[in-house]
Amino acid sequence: MIAEGVKTYRNYIGGEWREASGNGRLEVHDPANGELVYYATNSTVEDARAAVAAAKQAFEHSDWADNAVARAKALYKLAEALRGSVDWLAPLLTREGGKPLAISRAEVMRGADALEYYAGLARNVYGRSINLGPNEMAILMREPIGVVSIIVPWNMALSLLTRSLAPALATGNAVVVKPASLTPGATAEFIQMIDDIPEIPKGIVNFVIGPGGSVGSELVKHPDVEMISFTGDTSTGKEVMRMAADGLKKVSLELGGKSPSIIFPDADFNRAVRSALSGASLWHAGQVCVAGTRILVQESVHDRFIEQASKAARELRVGPGLQKGTQVGPVINEGQLRRVLDYVDVGKREAELVVGGERVTEGELGKGYFMAPTVFDRVPVDAKIAQEEIFGPVVSVLSFKDEEEACEVANATVYGLAAAVYTSDINKAMRVAKKVRSGMVWINTFGRLYPNAEMGGFKQSGLGRSYGLEGLYEFTEMKHINIQLQDAGGGRASGVGE
Ligand code: NDP
Repeated sequence: MIAEGVKTYRNYIGGEWREASGNGRLEVHDPANGELVYYATNSTVEDARAAVAAAKQAFEHSDWADNAVARAKALYKLAEALRGSVDWLAPLLTREGGKPLAISRAEVMRGADALEYYAGLARNVYGRSINLGPNEMAILMREPIGVVSIIVPWNMALSLLTRSLAPALATGNAVVVKPASLTPGATAEFIQMIDDIPEIPKGIVNFVIGPGGSVGSELVKHPDVEMISFTGDTSTGKEVMRMAADGLKKVSLELGGKSPSIIFPDADFNRAVRSALSGASLWHAGQVCVAGTRILVQESVHDRFIEQASKAARELRVGPGLQKGTQVGPVINEGQLRRVLDYVDVGKREAELVVGGERVTEGELGKGYFMAPTVFDRVPVDAKIAQEEIFGPVVSVLSFKDEEEACEVANATVYGLAAAVYTSDINKAMRVAKKVRSGMVWINTFGRLYPNAEMGGFKQSGLGRSYGLEGLYEFTEMKHINIQLQDAGGGRASGVGE
């Protein structure tokens, strides 16, 4: 039975809002209190195929790929629409995903910023030319790839979508977007903004809500999909790559992390403690890919760090994201809460629990999936809680004796997404930054991201880059057009291979 007055989000295919072909329906509940927030249609493989067909049709039969002016205008308009929606869209992001409202507002703004940045680049997708010889030259042109599937996780549904969608559209591709089944609503509202922009031909952007295992994998395997931009778990990313290999499709993968924050005694200590704790992304209950969930502290300041960090973690206000003053929201659902609690049990055997470690159930919080910010100390480098991505508000503190050991410990996981180093010695900071194997290193700060500066993973944290010029070029193919000129006498120039 459908509850009255509750919205149902649908697919958007070929410029039309459509029910899924089966009878499936998803329910999305607020992780802060279990209330029903909205319904969503739940697609089948047939719907995924229809979306790919619409994208292919629009890519091949509209002027989108050749009309950079329209693409720039469209992205500017979209940025403006998204920014203008912050007052009503951010609360929806919080209700579907749980994060504090201020973070949802920042997410909307970050999405708008990425759209605006790539709007500026849409008319600047430059290639090169080379003078190859007296009578020959090459034009190296960047072209769109074709139909791109963009598959997104639930933790930052909107900003992780826009950082792929904006460069994909700026370079003239057609896309099929698959949101996470847990959070399709705010994305559907954003897709409505796309529908309202006349410069975007119908079919260039399609949106299919459905399970990763069927709809998601069809959007990877379908022969007319030429690229997959995937953000999610490392194990799913590997599966995506395996499926894409059959069709030799291009993949861009933004995957998991276990980022280290390295604190040296000569750092501005109070600031470093605050920054490292906030870097652990406790505010989104640790459910952020770059979260600095391993804090590495030099032995001489270890005790001082534990004292300050445990006090700060205890003082964090846990509550619903919409409630004023909340610093830490709920985890996304019961399954995730159970997973985090299982890791805590393992951690209790591997290390020393200093703060948290339990579900928060006081009063109204008992209706949601709240977890106390948790700090483990004296965590061995090879402990499960130091190696695996927990995706919960759980921090592991490890100690090191010198700079060399700090780098070894920092690099001792399969991940390489981000890292931070805190010291007042710029030489040390740069030496460590060069040795750490990760796509992003912050010095004396954590978590700053910019649409004009690349990010992405080393090792098993991913392939390819988001943001910046590299993020734009991810969505292009390079074509070499070779020209052999006739010489002044009318003869042909000879080239290699003739
Ligand atoms: P998942 O990998 O489970 O899901 C991500 C997306 O992939 C969802 O839309 C999901 O659909 C879909 N999916 C699942 N299985 C398949 C499949 N076989 N083929 C195609 N698509 C599939 O990740 P989570 O949603 O749990 O997200 C959390 C993960 O994302 C964490 O590991 C985190 O580190 C990572 N992440 C990485 C970021 C980065 O920039 N590196 C940024 C943010 C998060 P459905 O929802 O229906 O299951």
